[in-house]
Amino acid sequence: MFKKILYGFELALFVVFAFLILKNANLNSFIESVENRTFDLRQSIMVNNGSKKPNKDIVIVAIDDATYEYILDNYGEWPMPRDIYSKIINYLEKQNPRAIAFDLMFVKSLKSESQADDALAGVFKKYSNVFTSMNLDNQSEDLRPSPQMPAKLALKIENKSNINFDGLTFTNCRKILQGIIDATSNIGFINVSRADDGILRKMPVIVKYKGEFYPQLALKVGLSYLGENKQNFEIDKHGFFKISDRKIYLDKDGSAILNWYGPAGTYEHIPMFQLIKAVDGGKMHIDTDFKDKIIYFGTTTSSLFDIKTVPTGKVYPGVEVQATYVNNIIDNNFIRKADKGYTIAVSILLALLVASVAGRIQSVYTASLMSFSIYFVYLLVSYYAMRFGNIWMEVVYPLIFTIFAFTVTFIIKYIIKSRDFEHQYMLATTDGLTGLYNHRYFQEQIRMQVENCKRYNTNFSLIIIDIDFFKKFNDNFGHQNGDAVLYQVAQTLKKNVRATDIVCRYGGEEMSIILPNTPKDEAYSTAVKICERVANKKFQLSGGRETGVTISLGVSTFPYDGEDASSIIESADKRLYDAKNNGRNRVGS
Ligand code: GH3
Ligand code: MG
Ligand code: MG
Repeated sequence: MFKKILYGFELALFVVFAFLILKNANLNSFIESVENRTFDLRQSIMVNNGSKKPNKDIVIVAIDDATYEYILDNYGEWPMPRDIYSKIINYLEKQNPRAIAFDLMFVKSLKSESQADDALAGVFKKYSNVFTSMNLDNQSEDLRPSPQMPAKLALKIENKSNINFDGLTFTNCRKILQGIIDATSNIGFINVSRADDGILRKMPVIVKYKGEFYPQLALKVGLSYLGENKQNFEIDKHGFFKISDRKIYLDKDGSAILNWYGPAGTYEHIPMFQLIKAVDGGKMHIDTDFKDKIIYFGTTTSSLFDIKTVPTGKVYPGVEVQATYVNNIIDNNFIRKADKGYTIAVSILLALLVASVAGRIQSVYTASLMSFSIYFVYLLVSYYAMRFGNIWMEVVYPLIFTIFAFTVTFIIKYIIKSRDFEHQYMLATTDGLTGLYNHRYFQEQIRMQVENCKRYNTNFSLIIIDIDFFKKFNDNFGHQNGDAVLYQVAQTLKKNVRATDIVCRYGGEEMSIILPNTPKDEAYSTAVKICERVANKKFQLSGGRETGVTISLGVSTFPYDGEDASSIIESADKRLYDAKNNGRNRVGS
């Protein structure tokens, strides 16, 4: 019963604990940041053991250090004139790529090079598979008035989830070249979602500006790859962004969690200067086959500032984030985070499992090994769930619960054990009928008293009590009434001695009292007092009857009457015998 109550209490404790953790915002964000690191670890392990293969249809044209140097050497400035891009696009289009996407913003118009800008706008008009990007921001209207966005760029989103997109809502932006905006609707946004620790684990799918939703560049490219050209989308009530045959899971802030394929340089890279040389009078021959490829242009050089930290690497170019994102879309590979409710349920289940295992095993070492193994199995499951099911099962909450369950179970076990011990000790030292200490305890104590008194040079006394004519009493009133009187005599003894005195049942109807630190005369008067109290007491018998009984007592004192336990007992016994002989109901002397 007591155990059941304690284990019920433990279960309640788990629920309260879950509630407290979930309510505490600071603790929650701390747990989330640790959880994020475990995500990074899982992703890194998967990437390192080569279980994820990047899509071969994605090629990166990198504005790398060599290209940057080449452009400065040959054009004297960065950015280079835009007509070079138009030449490159025309060159690549001959091989029929699936898409050409620029993770570059063609912002300021170079006044001296207006024909170059027009040439670039021209290729956007000519080819329907060329994409470019824009970035929203929150600059004040004082700096620049927030521009109107053409309606053709917006998506119609029916949001049935409770994601509010507040964190992905922007108030301003710098427009790219008007010529490009006029020429195409293949413009996507490249705002990113960084976690508190600065690491980029997820990317927005849509961003909000002036009440409308706009697509991410990668979403735009991915949709065209999948042949999806509608403008209307739905986010279902579970937070899934629906694209024809697939669903992208959106985390609570509206971003999709990316599945990473490797460290920087995972995709095939071609330095852009090689393409520049190829289109500039065929100064270079390119071997790469661009047919049906998604070609992403972007900077990989750190001096051009588009470098992120991602779960699988500290230095990861923005263009590769875009490539990873498109890879996730076309291979339907996004990560889905398990619901909080599921995490809490699993945590409580693990806690119960650990509690029941740790509760059954005696050894702390075995129990901790077993509990750790249970958690380790859960870790493995969570790893494989991410590897094969793209599911992010949280591991930090379950860990906290496992440790909590283990600790609480051991505390409870300790409480139960100490209670059991007390109970066992009580059974071993007391007498069931009278509630007095038993004979064994008496023998132990009297020996201890002798030792103590010898050591500290003090004294103690012993009173032995025997009920008068008890055989006859039993004969007259029956054994049951005899027992009742025994009990009542025991209570009377207890009531009339000090708390430090030890009252024992010595034998059948004989009792004894050890009186520590008590000289002979004091013990003698205590014995007389007890004798009178018993003689004057009315003892309750069955059927409401009452009767009186008397006792005879013998007193002895250490060290005057003996220097060891048995001679002290013998001396008290002898005096008790004298009391009997002298007429009973008295203290022998
Ligand atoms: P005396 O005055 O000489 O002590 O006479 P007595 O009859 O009490 O003699 P003695 O002390 O030898 O008797 C012990 C009797 O006590 C024997 C038994 O009938 C009774 N007795 C011993 N233990 C119990 C017990 O646990 N319950 C009951 N009801 N009687 C007991
Ligand atoms: Mg007796
Ligand atoms: Mg007797």
